[in-house]
Amino acid sequence: MLIDTYGRVATDLRVSLTDRCNLRCTYCMPEEGLQWLAKPDLLTDDEIVRLVGIAVTRLGVEEVRFTGGEPLLRPGLVGIVERCAALDPRPRMSLTTNGIGLGRTAAALKAAGLDRVNVSLDTLRPDVFKTLTRRDRHRDVLEGLAAARDAGLTPVKVNTVLMPGLNDDEAPDLLAWALEQGYELRFIEQMPLDAQHGWKRDGMITAGDILASLRTRFDLTPEGTEQRGSAPAERWLVDGGPHRVGVIASVTRPFCAACDRTRLTADGQVRTCLFATEETDLRAALRAEHGSDDDIARVWKLAMWGKKAGSGLDDPAFLQPERPMSAIGG
Ligand code: SAM
Ligand code: SF4
Repeated sequence: MLIDTYGRVATDLRVSLTDRCNLRCTYCMPEEGLQWLAKPDLLTDDEIVRLVGIAVTRLGVEEVRFTGGEPLLRPGLVGIVERCAALDPRPRMSLTTNGIGLGRTAAALKAAGLDRVNVSLDTLRPDVFKTLTRRDRHRDVLEGLAAARDAGLTPVKVNTVLMPGLNDDEAPDLLAWALEQGYELRFIEQMPLDAQHGWKRDGMITAGDILASLRTRFDLTPEGTEQRGSAPAERWLVDGGPHRVGVIASVTRPFCAACDRTRLTADGQVRTCLFATEETDLRAALRAEHGSDDDIARVWKLAMWGKKAGSGLDDPAFLQPERPMSAIGG
């Protein structure tokens, strides 16, 4: 098992498939993009499947989430999903995506064994989308969402980040729309993981703000925290249920004590936390001449054993990690 000194067990693996992206969300990437990882540094499809296999068969991982960057930009995605679905035990598998291109690939991903998707969408207004993401692709995301639902990649969850002065007035409209479309909406507090280091605690929209805004139109009753652990959203029943809305309050209501995650970057580094400042090089173990699955599992376990108690966000000495969200795998 991937256990740490605080007794937490990591059963949820986030795998970043690329650090590249076709959007430039202001809270994530600068307009000009980033210095992308060099191809030889990226894990190959075979290496990813091998690592997921080790995680699932030897280390107790039960759930795998593919992310990025934009995972739909990875040419081998469908094949990776298919091969991971053939593992025994078979992990639950989902994808976090901006939805661009999902219209073309949703059915193939479902057929390959993907269970669900989380699609990121912050606004219902095409002009605001263009300001927030610096690309005119709103329609593509809506099409991708509908294709995911039609392909049965359900429940389709929608991730939304609210930014002050841009889309922070849209929470009730987004919820009404999600209910109508059959999507499960989750708001994510903006975190200090942007490449530009522009995050300010004073400026962010908090879970409290989001709930107050939603309550202007909806009756919300707490449902508790998602049981499976993999989604740290606090959930509320909307107007008595059965529909729900979630809020992931990583900044103002951190859930570190219940964290069950381990992360793999696209260049094969294990991260114990989004906010970790240290990484462990699994790629080196993987590419070592006689690197066995046992060796790799040992390195991974050791990395997780050193996981810190919390994100350190509340510590005045908090240092933002060097890698931005798009390169860690959100
Ligand atoms: N490109 C895909 C997408 O946008 O869904 C996957 C990667 S993205 C880094 C994963 C999630 O992280 C998205 O839902 C995005 O909104 C969120 N995200 C990115 N930067 C963030 C930040 N600074 N604070 C909070 N969430 C952030
Ligand atoms: Fe790309 Fe996702 Fe970052 Fe937006 S949040 S820039 S879609 S990686």
